[in-house]
Amino acid sequence: MTRSRTACYIGIGANLGDARTQAEAAIAALAQLPDTTLAAQSSLFRTAPVDAGGDDYINAVARVDTLLSAEALLAQLQALEHAAGRERPYRNAPRTLDLDLLLYGEERVATPTLEVPHPRMTERAFVLIPLLQIDPFITIPGHGPAHQFVAAVSGQSIQKL
Ligand code: ADP
Ligand code: MG
Repeated sequence: MTRSRTACYIGIGANLGDARTQAEAAIAALAQLPDTTLAAQSSLFRTAPVDAGGDDYINAVARVDTLLSAEALLAQLQALEHAAGRERPYRNAPRTLDLDLLLYGEERVATPTLEVPHPRMTERAFVLIPLLQIDPFITIPGHGPAHQFVAAVSGQSIQKL
């Protein structure tokens, strides 16, 4: 039997080093993941850090269609972070590359290592705006249409590059 692919949305963020190059390289790397195709990518956006110091972030969202399980996809994302030199000296520290699994199809996952939909995605302009650019009608399982959360994050600075 052939399994069908699951549409997944990945949040990409970088604010150390050449953040724009890191974000673009991350999207290229997502296209190379096993059993996975890159289906869509948002523009790059410049955003001010939320709950953190450091330089502005470069953020984007990508959609991948994958045969990988959610856990296997997360492991691939963490390997890409590691390859980009990601270190975690403290919570919300500046990072060369952050890859978050935002949505895995319609599924809801809650384990000690993986929570999907990503628990903070409805509060973050840097997730919502690029996500809605790819699919204006996307819904977040357990939360409803993503567009309904935009008004509440309108105070967060985000600029399309
Ligand atoms: P953050 O992205 O919140 O700044 P990290 O990238 O350091 O933090 O991630 C911390 C942990 O979050 C990871 O070790 C991972 O196991 C866990 N995690 C839980 N759910 C997710 C998800 N949906 N996407 C990415 N990481 C997740
Ligand atoms: Mg992360």
